[in-house]
Amino acid sequence: MEPCGDTPPIGRPLIIPLFIPHMGCPHQCVFCNQRSITGGTRQTPSPDQIHREVRRFLKYGKKRASTTQISFFGGSFLGLAKETILSLLRAAVPFVQEARVDSIRFSTRPDTISRETLGLLDGFPVSTVELGVQSMNDLVLDAAGRGHRAADTVHATGLLKARGYQVGLQMMVGLPADDDDGAMETARRVAALQPDFVRIYPTLVLKGSRLAGRFNAGRYHPMSLAACVTLVKRLYLFFKTSHIPVVRMGLQASDGLTRAGDFIAGPYHPAFGHLVHGEIVLDAITSALNKMEKRPETLTIISHPSMVSRIQGLKKQNIRHLKKAFDLKKIALLQDANIEKEHLMVANRQITLP
Ligand code: SF4
Repeated sequence: MEPCGDTPPIGRPLIIPLFIPHMGCPHQCVFCNQRSITGGTRQTPSPDQIHREVRRFLKYGKKRASTTQISFFGGSFLGLAKETILSLLRAAVPFVQEARVDSIRFSTRPDTISRETLGLLDGFPVSTVELGVQSMNDLVLDAAGRGHRAADTVHATGLLKARGYQVGLQMMVGLPADDDDGAMETARRVAALQPDFVRIYPTLVLKGSRLAGRFNAGRYHPMSLAACVTLVKRLYLFFKTSHIPVVRMGLQASDGLTRAGDFIAGPYHPAFGHLVHGEIVLDAITSALNKMEKRPETLTIISHPSMVSRIQGLKKQNIRHLKKAFDLKKIALLQDANIEKEHLMVANRQITLP
């Protein structure tokens, strides 16, 4: 269930997504509806399809990107049949040989990583492997129908790192039998494995998933968007303190996980990451204002131009909140390109964002 990136801005890697539907998965996770999407009939892409798709992406994305990777996502790559794995890798290799692509990446379940399966990658230009960890609590993994243990993640990460792969770990929040403390504990155990990056996804209720049945029967209650943003904010700040980049928060429409109309319920927002960053800025300004003995009627905030939208929050909700909470008549936002992005001047006092 690893979603992939959309066209990145200049300087960021271009990831060319090749969707491998539900293949290689011995289980059906409660939140996943890929079996119902594909009906179990969809095939892995043929070498021709892979060539066409990669060429299509290279045509419009390459000039903008620093590095380019072909990414197999959606199923569990190393759970596929050996011949399928080799055929997919062989189809991608010519692009690396021609230096049009830098390397290959894929997502897979932790329990598909072994010395034998990693041996299949020998000689192929694979640089990055993402593991769908989802939780480091076995009870939560059971409740989610994952079919693997937290120990599988520990073992898999160790094997991957020993072979020099860049490792990404994906975790989920809002799974059945999990809560905020459980998610923080998963984050601590994920950080202890020292991944190169993490992704944090909310649990959504999708049509055709087992979770949809439980939701309809009133036996699963998804997180509210507000609670999910606040929890993911805590996780993001924790990983930041641990020097582990969070490369994605929330799902986007471009993630290819759902057909139109598949979303039933849960904390989905197309600008989920923006909501998280907006709340971080709101917290910092709130804390600064709380410390002031005398607050101005008009609050002036000076920031780097790129920070203005975070200060405002989605649809200016931060501005409305601050005005109400601190009885402010006006908030003036000024821009200064010389200020560091993590610094804000709030009523002439410099604050540093976490
Ligand atoms: S491992 Fe991923 S693709 Fe497979 S059933 Fe679970 S969520 Fe779906």
